[in-house]
Amino acid sequence: MELSASYDPKIAESKWYAIWEKEKLFHGDENDPRDAYSIVIPPPNVTGNLHMGHALNNTLQDILIRWQRMNGKATCWMPGMDHAGIATQNVVERLLLKEGKTKYDLGRDEFVKRVWDWKEHSGGQIKEQLKRLGCSLDWVRERFTLDEGLSHAVRTVFVTLYKEGLIYQGYRIINWCPRCETALSDIETEYKDLAGKLYYIHYPYEEGDGHITVATTRPETMLGDTAVAVNPNDSRYAHLIGKNVILPLMNRPIPIIADEFVDPAFGTGLVKVTPAHDPNDFEMGKRHNLEEVNILDKNAIVNENGGVYKGLDRYQAREKVCEDLKTAGLLEKIEDHNHAVGHCYRCHTVIEPYLSKQWFVKIEPLAKEAIKVVEEGKIRFIPSNWAKIYFEWMYNIKDWCISRQLWWGHRIPAFYCKDCGYIMVELEDPTKCSVCNSKNLEQDADVLDTWFSSALWPFSTFGWPQKTKSLEKFYPTSVLVTGFDIIFFWVARMIMMGCKFMNDVPFYDVYIHALVRDEHGQKMSKSRGNVIDPLIMMDKYGTDAFRFTLAIFAAQGRDIILSEKRIEGYSAFCNKIWNSTRFILMNLGNDFKPEAIDVNSLELFDKWILHAFNQTVKKTTQALVEYRFNDAAQTLYDFWWHEFCDWYIELSKPRIYAGDSLSGTIAKQVLYVVLHEYLKLLHPFMPFITEEIWSNITTNEGRIVVAPWPQYDERFNFENEFNYAELFKEIVYKIRNIRGEMNVPPDKKAHVVIKAGKKIEQFVRQQENNLKILAKLEAVEYNAAYTPQKTDASAVLPECEIYVPLKDLIDLEKEKARLDKEIARIQVELDKVLKKLNDSTFMAKAPQNIIEKEQNKKAELEEVHAKLTTSREKLG
Ligand SMILES: [Zn+2]
Ligand SMILES: [Zn+2]
Repeated sequence: MELSASYDPKIAESKWYAIWEKEKLFHGDENDPRDAYSIVIPPPNVTGNLHMGHALNNTLQDILIRWQRMNGKATCWMPGMDHAGIATQNVVERLLLKEGKTKYDLGRDEFVKRVWDWKEHSGGQIKEQLKRLGCSLDWVRERFTLDEGLSHAVRTVFVTLYKEGLIYQGYRIINWCPRCETALSDIETEYKDLAGKLYYIHYPYEEGDGHITVATTRPETMLGDTAVAVNPNDSRYAHLIGKNVILPLMNRPIPIIADEFVDPAFGTGLVKVTPAHDPNDFEMGKRHNLEEVNILDKNAIVNENGGVYKGLDRYQAREKVCEDLKTAGLLEKIEDHNHAVGHCYRCHTVIEPYLSKQWFVKIEPLAKEAIKVVEEGKIRFIPSNWAKIYFEWMYNIKDWCISRQLWWGHRIPAFYCKDCGYIMVELEDPTKCSVCNSKNLEQDADVLDTWFSSALWPFSTFGWPQKTKSLEKFYPTSVLVTGFDIIFFWVARMIMMGCKFMNDVPFYDVYIHALVRDEHGQKMSKSRGNVIDPLIMMDKYGTDAFRFTLAIFAAQGRDIILSEKRIEGYSAFCNKIWNSTRFILMNLGNDFKPEAIDVNSLELFDKWILHAFNQTVKKTTQALVEYRFNDAAQTLYDFWWHEFCDWYIELSKPRIYAGDSLSGTIAKQVLYVVLHEYLKLLHPFMPFITEEIWSNITTNEGRIVVAPWPQYDERFNFENEFNYAELFKEIVYKIRNIRGEMNVPPDKKAHVVIKAGKKIEQFVRQQENNLKILAKLEAVEYNAAYTPQKTDASAVLPECEIYVPLKDLIDLEKEKARLDKEIARIQVELDKVLKKLNDSTFMAKAPQNIIEKEQNKKAELEEVHAKLTTSREKLG
């Protein structure tokens, strides 16, 4: 058993993933009689590249699935990708543009073929990247939202909902992206506050002189006005209700109507009504039977309904309309006006509210059940405050617009009879009209919203609508791990569809993780230039260090502040594990054979470390049960570094070096057991280094991937000995502190006096050798009646006092002079900082981060000053 001189992550990482995959260790068998534990991956877009969000999301899932695999569950982590309708279509359209072509040049079939080609050759790069990250996905089950099986599931759901009246076609105002030429759902529209204008326009009365004034942010839409509205309770305008005004530029009479919806405080209290271009006006139009005049085409260019403005795009039309109104003396004024404007979430073009025929899901009946299962606690959000946000959205949910005017996606399975107009929605493509037998049929041109297929992901991937064994074994899944940004897009819809089609929730727990931000707490973005690339980090520091860093900062409800320095820091932890293991193996020697621990032969520190390890097992497991990834990682880090390496390994050295003693043999067995069991606890966080070491220290135990998860062992519960050992550590700490504060040269051995009761004294006597080694002592004196000298440094513990006479240890006068000089130097620096912080001009003008820096400096200097002063006082 021997490890190479240093750990090379590249070697371990390139070796182990392929072996795990070859040995099918990630495969979840549906016939496995053990309890199931399953997760479905949030399917990354086929266009995706691994970014920090993916890295965090998948590291956490992998920790859970690896832990449960070792915990004896039949585990399955379902991999796959999303066809990502708009995103993918945009990528291929951009490529075509480079060839000087548009999708129309190719035609629908050819274009879709191009997208599949692109998918085969350039898509799905993220798959290899997930493997780099060590994700133990069940690759033989991999799915794609547009594959045959999933397409069949989509069609089955569509047909079922249509037949139940839960999918319908409607002529509605929807959010339209004129660039992508498609409808978007409400949540695909991102609102940004923009500096806009409010235009006040005169509409002359049809009869007699005079006019009214209406205010609008989008004057070009007046071309489609079919009324002006006032609030019925607005006494200023009561006399006008029922009269007509002339719509300027278009010169047609339109009525003044009364509607409760109008806000009397907005503008003049009189609003233009454009049913075809505003969702509220559309509703108003329905209430008052107004005509819907659509003035824009699908690229937001004015059509024939816009009279002389035909052919202008919406912004040109706005300018021309204003110009003409001004010329006609009908533009009263223009005011600055900030308002929220919707943008396409894919291409950031300003959304146009657009009247068109679309397909909708009637959402309320589905939402009802989805609310109930969360209310009843069948699904649990972690952290729990996300449930509130879920409920708020679900209570106010609107029908879901699911048709998209794209070519890449699941084509809507509705067929129109061109002779009698009948619509057929069936599982199989119809060959003739079921009403008039005409063969003149045409399929709906639209495709479904990408999120329609991902809503079915937890059951479609396991074979639904077939009643498969996999579905029976792994549905409902155990947990969903995702970011908060897709709770509405995805989580809510999976719950609705799962309840509807499986009669059961899709998952029991929903763990919502936070964002990864840069070291200054800023969101990472390309434009800020602060993006940390996970692939580069894995290259530089190794995957294990990178994963461990993400985990140790993944506290619930708190964003992760990530910097390269932190990752570098945890790569030092990898090295620490490697080097300490190497040391252990060298000392175990070649003829070492692991044996069961004989509790009766254990010494104090054996019992202490076994007890501490027992606690580590308990704490790590409990933290994972409660999704406290950070606590689990921190526990593992502290145990190895600060208990095992700092203390136990040090204390085991003299025992082992003493030769063939029983004590040395026991120490070796304990070192081995702790190493062996600890690697298993660490494995879900650091899969590669643990497997690499495991393969060096075990024979016939198989891979660590499937090794049994360590359990709390009652035999190693040594509370009493643990407390004594902690007291010993405390004494060593105190003496080390004194040495440090008093500047005792490292090679100078001290003399200490222990003033304690019989019991403690007896204990310290037993550990005297260890104490001498760890605290660098030449002699320990026990004196319950000791009278401290003026030049003694001292420390007090609950049942024990420690004195270190300094006069033989350091040159007192020299040390006094050194401390005086140091205190004076710190005082000068402190004065400088205080002067700044008391300067009102500096405080008013300096940026917040500079002020914080000065404040931190002050705190640090004060602390050093206090410590030096205490040391100085001890010397008299
Ligand atoms: Zn767009
Ligand atoms: Zn027909």
